Amino acid sequence: MSPSRNSNSPIIYWIRNDLRLGDNAALVAAAASGRPVIPLFILDETEHGPRSPGGAARWWLHHSLSRLADDYHALGATLILRRGETLAVLASVARETGAERVVYQRSYDGFGCRIHKSIKAHLSPLGVKAAAHAGYLLFEPEQVSTLSDTPFKVFTPFWRRCMQQAQLSAPLAPPQRISPANGVKSDALAMWQLLPSRPDWSGGLVRAWTPGEQAGLGRLQEFIDEAILDYSQARDIPGVAGTSGLSAHLHFGEISARQIWHAVNLAMASADIPEAAGEAYLRQIGWREFCHHQLFHWPDLDTQPLRPDFTRFPWRIANGESGLAAWQRGQTGLPLVDAGMRQLWTSGWMHNRVRMLTASFLTKNLLLPWQLGEHWFWDTLVDANPANNAAGWQWVAGSGADAAPYFRIFNPVTQSKKFDAEGDYIRRWVPELSALPSRYIHAPWEAPDNVLAAAGVTIGENYPAPIVDLKTTRQRALDAYAAMKASGEINSA
Ligand code: FAD
Repeated sequence: MSPSRNSNSPIIYWIRNDLRLGDNAALVAAAASGRPVIPLFILDETEHGPRSPGGAARWWLHHSLSRLADDYHALGATLILRRGETLAVLASVARETGAERVVYQRSYDGFGCRIHKSIKAHLSPLGVKAAAHAGYLLFEPEQVSTLSDTPFKVFTPFWRRCMQQAQLSAPLAPPQRISPANGVKSDALAMWQLLPSRPDWSGGLVRAWTPGEQAGLGRLQEFIDEAILDYSQARDIPGVAGTSGLSAHLHFGEISARQIWHAVNLAMASADIPEAAGEAYLRQIGWREFCHHQLFHWPDLDTQPLRPDFTRFPWRIANGESGLAAWQRGQTGLPLVDAGMRQLWTSGWMHNRVRMLTASFLTKNLLLPWQLGEHWFWDTLVDANPANNAAGWQWVAGSGADAAPYFRIFNPVTQSKKFDAEGDYIRRWVPELSALPSRYIHAPWEAPDNVLAAAGVTIGENYPAPIVDLKTTRQRALDAYAAMKASGEINSA
């Protein structure tokens, strides 16, 4: 029998990608009610659930939940973990505990939107209310539209419209105390087996990252104190730590976009950093907003091209000969591409410029569908995010919103000479090339034999020859694009 409801019936705070205590409107609402709070995280791997996190994100999630459990403990509460279909778990925890309400942070993927629409209908027959709170984004999708009331497909006017309404209230302080709800059953985190076991490939992730709210806030402060000043130049150089590294913290909601917004604005207002530096950084937070608004309006963003003509694009088939495996393993023979793919595999993260380059290589030089790349990134990135990843891939492939003109195909050698001139990044991630002089490190197959011998490089033996010819594959991509356009004209004739 369910406990009867009364003024002391608990509130369920359903935790999703808001693994933090600070600036958390749903948690603050739960704590302010004075009722016992059940902070509940549900691992929903059923077919009705959200897209399952990939391997690297599962590693992050484990550690983030473990830290969050400690943070709740310090506040006198207990983090409850349950596995199963979300609505069924919410209903059963409500029945077991007599909870009178569920509060949660709104999310924008297909699953989040479906739940948002159905949760009240599902829980109200049980006498349980449900309330969503904003908190993942700076601006809600309904808030930002064109004059004709359609979603923006171009970033600059989108961000301009956002800026016209950028009076954002201050971040909320974390609750000082939460009344605990005692005796609620929880899974043990270890039972979920989120960490890799045999083989344990997580060593590079452990060295690179510290999941959790405190680490995220620390990283933000360090970035503002030390790196934001040079961000607009340094953000394009993969060999330097010129970006904030906050993407996974943002993805899991260990830090809110509003906390970042306010910290950067505070630094600008106190003249610690020039406005141009702060604005260049916030513009990237704007791209995050843009991608999430796209996902909200086009829930199939991770599988379907935003530009419908791309459904006719003549992609190659991914078979043993296609180059997919060489791309995944960082064995394409193009040093900057390989460096990026190995950084991804080892550390669960890749520099943005190299994400663009490796995505261009897969979709244009190898002419393989962007969905294959999206899928690989989904499994290997600690920051794998349904909006940013899908929009990033579609942007590079040419099928997305505000995509670069198709003919602008990244050349891995030119990009390498421009953004990794001394080969610092390549030397770090492709150590077999580290003794090559900078002049030859971008295209080692062009180096004279004596230079290769002196650097201990044998092309085709300890480093591959390029798996494609850049010039002919560039032309093949342009021809494929022209064929897609032409077939559209035939269809519409
Ligand atoms: P910073 O330069 O410090 O930027 C700060 C924050 O702004 C980032 O943490 C991120 O939240 C946001 N941001 C920056 N650039 C972009 C962008 N182009 N699009 C959307 N948001 C942006 N980002 C993800 O968070 N998850 C992904 O799964 C993801 N997949 C991508 C796939 C491709 C093919 C491409 C081209 C880009 C992808 N990005 C993704 C965007 C971008 O590469 C990363 O956000 C960035 O490299 C993260 O590093 P940072 O936090 O140091 O970024």
